[in-house]
Amino acid sequence: MSNLTPMMQQYLEIKKQYPDAILFFHLGDFYEMFFDDAVRAAPILEVALTSRDAGRLGRVPMCGVPCHSASSYIARLVSHGFKVALCEQLEDPSQAKGLVKRGVTRVITPGTFFEGETTDKTSHSYIAAVAPGSGKTYGLASAEVGTGEFRVTSFAGAGAQDKLMDELFRLQPAEVVLPEGSEELKHLVRAAAPAAAVTFWPQELFRDLARAEAALEGYEREGEWKTEAVLAAGVLAAYLAETQKRELKHLKKISSYRPEGFMLLDAATRRNLELTRSLADGSRRGTLLEVLDYTLTGMGGRRLRDWIEQPLLDPAAIEERLEAVSYLVEQAVKREEIRARLKKMGDMERLASRLSFGLANARDLLSLKDSLILAGEIKEELSGAKGLLERLRDQLENLDDITSLIAEAIAPDPPATLQEGGLIREGYHPEVDRLRSIRRDAHKYLAELEAKEKERTGIKSLKIGYNRVFGYYIEVTKPNLHLVPPDYQRRQTLVQAERFVTPELKEYEEMILGAEERLYSLEYELFCRVRDQVQAHLDRILRAARAIGQIDALASLAVAAVKGNYVRPRISSSDLIRIKEGRHPVVERALGPGNFVPNDTWLGGTDKRVAIITGPNMGGKSTYMRQVALIVLMAQIGSFVPAAEAEIGVVDRIFTRVGAADNLYGGQSTFMVEMGECRTILTQATSRSLVVMDEVGRGTSTYDGMSIARAIVEYLVQRIKAKTLFSTHYHELTDLAQLPGVFNLTVAVREEEGKVSFLYRVLPGKADKSYGLHVAALAGLPKEVIERAREILEELERRREEKPERPCRVVQLDMFSCGVEHPLLAELTRLDLDQITPLQALNLLAEWQGRLKAEG
Ligand code: ADP
Repeated sequence: MSNLTPMMQQYLEIKKQYPDAILFFHLGDFYEMFFDDAVRAAPILEVALTSRDAGRLGRVPMCGVPCHSASSYIARLVSHGFKVALCEQLEDPSQAKGLVKRGVTRVITPGTFFEGETTDKTSHSYIAAVAPGSGKTYGLASAEVGTGEFRVTSFAGAGAQDKLMDELFRLQPAEVVLPEGSEELKHLVRAAAPAAAVTFWPQELFRDLARAEAALEGYEREGEWKTEAVLAAGVLAAYLAETQKRELKHLKKISSYRPEGFMLLDAATRRNLELTRSLADGSRRGTLLEVLDYTLTGMGGRRLRDWIEQPLLDPAAIEERLEAVSYLVEQAVKREEIRARLKKMGDMERLASRLSFGLANARDLLSLKDSLILAGEIKEELSGAKGLLERLRDQLENLDDITSLIAEAIAPDPPATLQEGGLIREGYHPEVDRLRSIRRDAHKYLAELEAKEKERTGIKSLKIGYNRVFGYYIEVTKPNLHLVPPDYQRRQTLVQAERFVTPELKEYEEMILGAEERLYSLEYELFCRVRDQVQAHLDRILRAARAIGQIDALASLAVAAVKGNYVRPRISSSDLIRIKEGRHPVVERALGPGNFVPNDTWLGGTDKRVAIITGPNMGGKSTYMRQVALIVLMAQIGSFVPAAEAEIGVVDRIFTRVGAADNLYGGQSTFMVEMGECRTILTQATSRSLVVMDEVGRGTSTYDGMSIARAIVEYLVQRIKAKTLFSTHYHELTDLAQLPGVFNLTVAVREEEGKVSFLYRVLPGKADKSYGLHVAALAGLPKEVIERAREILEELERRREEKPERPCRVVQLDMFSCGVEHPLLAELTRLDLDQITPLQALNLLAEWQGRLKAEG
């Protein structure tokens, strides 16, 4: 290395320690990149790739970005999955003897970059770490550097891996830290969160409990922690320490949670119900979040999203939220007073992160001050509230000490930069005031000097100006040059004029510049001191920010309730779901007021467990089923619901198996995906779950499909006893209503003069099969085809009546009433249903069916 330029030597020394990051090397006003880093980054950043002389190596590739706009460039690299190591000048270049000292002050990774512009205030940017334990157990830690959230959980026992995936799907982390070599975990992460960057870290760190405990020193831990949780949190804390290279004061509390503490929602269900991301394009358009989101602050937006993604199970906790929403619905004036304050508030969680990183400027402090004052006013507004709102109000403790500190110290309209003064308020510090008055006086003297010189020389257009290179000067235009007195010293010649200085002018200049320099550095110093003082109260600020987030989310639910004409649901621990005149919140909004046909729902008890819903395509079946699922979910997040009345017995999970997912799964066969989703339901649903299944069995041949659908319904009603809505185009399944607990629903259709129109009314009973033909006619199929189809249908129905079809139509009875002792019956009697999986059951069914068919 000896004959490299000294700077290149320094660069390579540092770069060696960060092989997997793009090194941003601070050089003057630029961050420069060299070698491969430059080659890789230049096209992404759309900057020119140039070169620089490196000594022995000759010219090496280089590119650079200006420091002042670095964060947008960093954002681009990070969004491409790169890490960026910021290598700063560690001393003032003007003071340095020889080469400026440099070192990496922070490594920005996809999961720790938070300074970027967010287009959606509700969006999160998590970094997560997964620690696999022995057997299929996992610890999962997740943190958000931009807001100070840090949480941990663990999964064990059957289905642990599925639950881990569901949780990763919910979080959609930007980056996941995994033990080196764990390809299986990497696949899992890729499937659940395709956009996540995967960072491998040495295996042993994921196993070393002592090291994890050491990394967690200084963190406050809440809740119960399993070993895997400690390991995951320890790894994440260590990773944050290593990359951020500073104490993250806003990220000091880690709470442990149990996913089972919330309504579990698997990835397919989250997707299908379009809670926060639409099926069409992943945006929030047409989602439940969009309908409910009237939040006005970033923290409120994020909180509401969290609530929607984690509905509650505890009736008392749900009631508490409902009570708060109810209060804000009724107290319209208070609500609007509060919201007027929220509207003016900054994103205090993000401000706290900026403070913690030492990135906050004077404007940030002012915004924080204003927000804290507004928080105080909101506290006043909530003086009469009880329950949850009262508790939140108490978390908004008095923060006057912080606000008055900022108000006293910081100038009312400061610049965004910290190096050019204007930060400190008049009267806060005598030396600042003194330097400023020197500067002011000098300016006054200058004005007087200008007048004096005009007078002395008789040059009317003479003026005093300033530029960075020559300092203060006297400018005289060309035609007046003959009037210039001999004591003027020429400094610069322009086309139209010449510039001069005098000893007196230089004196003032020194006064002004000297004062300014001292002023700026003193202001900066004072500002940093104030910022540190504010930072010392980060925990109080964050507590207030989080309370405000919840208040904003509750107020948002209240506004949604008022605007959507929702009612407060009655929450119970009963087994019933009863909805009067329920509506689908999203479809209703899309159709406009008055255009949605409301429908009743009664599910539960012993006789109404599984509804088989038949009816023509486009008749409103899936809208109805989703509507029930969404109303239950809304009730369990503590929201009012779109209905005239609702009684919701809390459900432990909602499952959906809905079509239309075809394009979401690259290579996998749709039928395989469908069966996978059915497996999840049949193995995980309980009698307290709500199951929605739309058109199961469509992806295969009619007989296969129908048999599977039938077997699934039987299993659901006889074994699992989950409350189920099951739509099907297999008309034959309506026979299942003979089983206890199964009943039929259909969507009403009006037929007038051979024309069919949809009424979207869900009624007891089964559909008239021939509506398929009516719908075909409605769609404009040629008359001849319709006529012919009718003939064929009649023929088929006649044949069926003559020779009852196999397999037996009502499973429970027909097989036994055949009269002969069939060997299959013996096998069936012997079968221990507790010992077989649904899939094995299906295989058996298929085998039996095959044998029966072979017998003719
Ligand atoms: P299906 O599942 O029976 O094929 P959908 O539920 O997809 O039918 O409904 C088809 C369309 O009918 C929806 O996109 C919606 O525009 C309309 N629709 C459904 N239910 C209602 C309703 N209750 N009131 C008004 N329009 C409805």
